[in-house]
Amino acid sequence: MSGAQAAGEQTGDAGTLGLDPALLAILACPDTHHSPLTVDVDASELVCPTCSRAFPVRDGIPVLLLDEARQRPA
Ligand SMILES: [Zn+2]
Repeated sequence: MSGAQAAGEQTGDAGTLGLDPALLAILACPDTHHSPLTVDVDASELVCPTCSRAFPVRDGIPVLLLDEARQRPA
């Protein structure tokens, strides 16, 4: 961390699953709607609010593959 960003106090890794917030900001569902994903900290997954798919994060790497996604109950 080179400490480029000091404005506003965010809660470190909580809510990001250890992922870079800049990366999270550009992650999108691989389905055709390309909705921005939200983080489910409890499940350690990235969730698409549009199709309710959940994508696993393995070793700090989001697996954004439809084949790997889990369909969550609405
Ligand atoms: Zn989706």
